[in-house]
Amino acid sequence: MRCPVCGADNPEGRKFCGDCGKETSSGNAKDGAVKGGRLSIGAFVILMIALVVMVLAWGWQEDIEGDIEEHRGTMSETWYANELVLLDNAGILWNSGVVLTVLAVVVIALTPVRK
Ligand SMILES: [Zn+2]
Repeated sequence: MRCPVCGADNPEGRKFCGDCGKETSSGNAKDGAVKGGRLSIGAFVILMIALVVMVLAWGWQEDIEGDIEEHRGTMSETWYANELVLLDNAGILWNSGVVLTVLAVVVIALTPVRK
């Protein structure tokens, strides 16, 4: 590998240049920052998707609860049971959104900031 400072050829994996003594690993550090940048963009996209999922799940739950409220008394047992299953699914969707949000925030928090 070539020293980024003086251009002298150094054996692979050496941390400091044998010629000028400067750090030769700065190229690798830059690679890491680019990877970190991509990772946080991915996490940001996941965060956006998670927020959309949560908004949809919340709206869905409101819809179902409104339906149950509106048809209280006239609703058949099977219909009510179906609504409860839907409500469960909406709850699972909501939880997935929460888990995705937490994951994305953790990844963003742990990603080193690009310099
Ligand atoms: Zn050098």
